[in-house]
Amino acid sequence: MSHSDAQPPLDTFAAAVAQARRSAVLGSIDALLGWDERTKMPPAGGSHRADQAAALAVVVHRERTDPRQGERLERLLDDPRARQGTPQEQATIRLLHRDFVKQARLPARLVEELARTCVEAQQAWSRAREESSWPVLEPWLRRMFDLKREQAACQLPDLDRYDALMDDYEPGARWPAVAERFARLRAGIVPLVQACAAATRRPSDALMRRQYPLAAQRRFCRDVAARIGFDFDRGRLDTTDHPFCTTIGPDDCRITTRWDENFLPTAVYGVLHEAGHGLYEQGLPRDWFGLPPGEAASLGVHESQSRLWENLVGRSRAFWDWCFPLASAAFPGALADADAAAVHAALLVVEPSFIRVEADEVTYNLHVMLRFDLERAVVLGDLDIADLPAAWNDRFEQDFGMRPPNDAVGVLQDIHWSAGLVGYFPTYTLGNIFSAQLMAAAERDVGPLAPQFATGTFEPLLGWMRRHVHAAGRMLESDPLVERATGAPVSEAPLLASLRARYGVAHGL
Ligand code: ZN
Repeated sequence: MSHSDAQPPLDTFAAAVAQARRSAVLGSIDALLGWDERTKMPPAGGSHRADQAAALAVVVHRERTDPRQGERLERLLDDPRARQGTPQEQATIRLLHRDFVKQARLPARLVEELARTCVEAQQAWSRAREESSWPVLEPWLRRMFDLKREQAACQLPDLDRYDALMDDYEPGARWPAVAERFARLRAGIVPLVQACAAATRRPSDALMRRQYPLAAQRRFCRDVAARIGFDFDRGRLDTTDHPFCTTIGPDDCRITTRWDENFLPTAVYGVLHEAGHGLYEQGLPRDWFGLPPGEAASLGVHESQSRLWENLVGRSRAFWDWCFPLASAAFPGALADADAAAVHAALLVVEPSFIRVEADEVTYNLHVMLRFDLERAVVLGDLDIADLPAAWNDRFEQDFGMRPPNDAVGVLQDIHWSAGLVGYFPTYTLGNIFSAQLMAAAERDVGPLAPQFATGTFEPLLGWMRRHVHAAGRMLESDPLVERATGAPVSEAPLLASLRARYGVAHGL
């Protein structure tokens, strides 16, 4: 042991920080392996890549659960002198300790079983979805939910099991508050979807389904991402099947997209979404890389940033007033007879559909709330795994007015549960809720945004997010963070107002 109880807290703090950074650097190597796997790796490279990832995972886990780190953090928590540090230092001690305790409470056997079941359940999921065969997945999901219940009981035994799982993705989020917020949102969205479906004025996206050459799409998307503030000296844009954003280091944030020559929004809105994630990562305090003040607050807050740029900025008329000349120069054939108004109108289609990831902005949250309610019922034992497909289809029919014709477009469509991501879905809708509230507050502070967007001026909005959201890192949980940034308790009302204003008007409501 190199440290004794007599050691001054500053040295203990420095040692704890050094260890946490070492874990973060190792974790970032894993991120690089993951990025390469999904963008560049040849198909046959998978087996060796799995060996690399497994070998690294052992090292990372050892580093993260080193008992000496636990002792340092305990000592710092107990030392009154450590409580006189800066807010960043105090948050670092508190959150590193919290993370450490959660990790250390997991028995090694459970960690290993979860890791193995994740791989096997995802393989079963691929097969099940391909064959649209629920029985292929059922035993694996049963196993996975058992393990997740056990994980919840180990890590946060005082919490409701579902809250304990949600806490991994949205620290501090609790079922009663989230469920109430979602119920109010649902009560507003269901009638809006029905009214849009019954409207005599229905936007069409035919304009977006013309031919948009891929080389031109690549230049155009890169230009747009740079213009909203994504820093290509500290980031990249590459091609993948399932778009994501990953951070390799404080000055290396990578976004990805997929391309469709006959549907422009796939790439444009994929890039705006991932660039929104990237702007957040690039805006986190870089000197605190790998430590709580330099980390994202939660997945919900992360999603608030991606949704803000994708939907609230990117689907606004003012954005297209600025962007249309760039688009028509990039796609002179497809857009020869169009204008900003026509493009904007083509982006506001509301159409109930079976698949969440293809859903429009209005129906999207209904997909999320369905999963939120069902996964909680399974975790608490109120719904048996065997009854999940029927429960899914009943609820879907109730919300969307149509019943999935098979499980591939129903309960089998998402990878999340097979990947052990239970309690993750609500972060998508929380992100949408946060985004509308943040946008409204930013507009109040920096003045009307539409005239700014119309001239391609995005810095005031980004600067506001930098100051009020990005700079805080993980020092506050999402609700207090949004509340402090906006001066009001978190509410679904700004999102509902925004959806009604944009989609209601487009449908002549
Ligand atoms: Zn996202």
